This record gives sequence, structure tokens and C-alpha cells, in this order.
Amino acid sequence: MDTIGALKAETGTIILAHYYQTGDVQAIADFLGDSLELARKAMTIEDASYVIFATVDFMAEVAKILNPAKTILMADTTASCPMANQLRAGTVQDYKQVYPGLPAVLYINTLAEAKAECDTICTSSNAIPVTKAIAAEWGVDRVLMGPDRHLARHVQVMTGLDIIAMPEKGCCVVHDQFGAEDVNFQRDQHPDALLIVHPECRPEVQDAADFIGSTKQMIEYMERDLDREYIVGTERGLIDHVLALHPSAMLYPLAPVPTGGICKNMKKTTVAKIQALLEIIKDGGDLAPYEIMVDPSVAEGAKRSIDAMFTYMQQ
Ligand code: SF4
Repeated sequence: MDTIGALKAETGTIILAHYYQTGDVQAIADFLGDSLELARKAMTIEDASYVIFATVDFMAEVAKILNPAKTILMADTTASCPMANQLRAGTVQDYKQVYPGLPAVLYINTLAEAKAECDTICTSSNAIPVTKAIAAEWGVDRVLMGPDRHLARHVQVMTGLDIIAMPEKGCCVVHDQFGAEDVNFQRDQHPDALLIVHPECRPEVQDAADFIGSTKQMIEYMERDLDREYIVGTERGLIDHVLALHPSAMLYPLAPVPTGGICKNMKKTTVAKIQALLEIIKDGGDLAPYEIMVDPSVAEGAKRSIDAMFTYMQQ
């Protein structure tokens, strides 16, 4: 068994990682997923003493909220999602005051304090059915949604509902990099390739796409026909993941420059940092700098919104 495998076994630790992690971090993970899959997995963690989240902070927070008794750790707690930090609890309260009677749907990419103020969360996999379900339940055709204005616009196009983005200009700094010039350049280079993009991309990119979906949905779309070429409009870790599974897949990142489409925060977690954390666990060291904690009163409200998503998904 390799060093990391031995440390995991000795300490009773499992590693959950997002598809946007580097290929070597993905390779040492016990479970890989997008935010919805990680949230679902977090609900069923039973046999591990420690859980290391190789993600950004909001995903580890969701795991802690769903498993308050578990020790949830991050190898680098500064790995924080810039988009999640664009929407504070006070902004959600302000919008709800301005638009009384409208439900607030928040993307899972939010801080726990914001989740505690909304009516349900959603992920990019289920934003459309969850938003339709809550609008029907409330008997409204307008819904507040944040923090990604591009996801909000995608849901508006797909549902016909009036979606009010909060804040007005929230976005993912990684997906918002892609523009029409990238689409045109890569279409010229790869005229037979299908363009598949994440709904966090700008409208001009979404409108040019052959398929729009969450990371998991993009993987499933490509796996349906691996003889095709794909231009992939999301974080580059997804390409690493698909190439690890299917080395002959023909995938091209939407941003042609090597630095394009990389989430610096997702890449803060490294194998070396994970190994160092495993050694601290093994030696009985101080885990406080690595442990994810959520204030119980905030966690209670956030859990209500997370539970609401799972309920709306079944409708
Ligand atoms: S890719 Fe975008 S939404 Fe995802 S963690 Fe990075 S900044 Fe946040």
C-alpha cells in the first residue's frame, strides 16, 4: 500500500474530492463527485473517523451541516469559493424585504449563513426542477436566485419563470472568463467538436453550446459517445477526470490558453498538504486549524434549506 493509502487506513480517514481537483488529488480520493453527489455522499458517511474534503469550503460546510458529529477537515482551509463570498446573509434578507412573497433559491455554492436565510438551495444539476417545484408550491412566477446571475438566466430560459438575480452581478470568476472569442477560436480549430458548457458560463457561451449541464451531466453526455470530439466549457479538472477514465477521449478546454479555466481555490488542496494532514491525524496533533465548524444556529437554518432541496427533487 502506498504512503497515503497506509495513512488513510491507519487513521480511519476517507477523502472526498470534487471533479475540479487536480488529477493526482482525484487519484487518492475515495469518492469523487460534483456538489450534489458530494452532499448526497456526506449524508451516508458512517464508518470513517475523519473525512477530508478536497474541495472549497462551502462543500465541506454542507458535509458538516449534514453530519454535525463527524470531524470534517480540509487540508487548506483558505480554499474558499469567490462566488460563494459574493452573497452574504444580509443581502438575502434585503432582497426578501424588497420582494416579499417570493421564494429565495440559493445555489449550493453559498456560505452557510446565506443558506440559512433562503427557502431552498439547488445545485447546477437540479436548479431547473427545484425552482419549478418551489414556484408551483408558492403559486408564483417570479423567484429570487443567487449568487450566480448566469445560472439564474439559464433557469429563466429553461423554465419561463422570471428569475431575479441576487446580487445583480454575481458570477463564478472561472466560468465568467469564457467568451464568444473562445467559442469562435475553438470552433475554428475543431469544427467537428460539440461544445458542452456549464450553466455558470456567460449567456453568449450558453447560447452557442450544444449542451448545457452540471459537471456530472457533462460527463454523462460525453460518455454517451466517446467517438465525438468535445470542447469543454468548465474547470479543467473535469477534463483530467474524463481523460483518467477514458484516455483516448478527444477533449479541448474552451479557454485555449493553459491558464484559462482553472479555479485557483480548488487547486489549493494538494497531495502534499493532504499527506501532511494525515500525519497530524496519525500523531494526534492539533486539528483545529483544519476542522470545519458551523455555528449551530446557522447550521439549523442551512440544514432546513438543504433538506428542502432534497424534498423538491422528489416532486
Ligand atoms: S469554479 Fe467557480 S464556483 Fe467553483 S469553486 Fe471555483 S470560483 Fe467557486
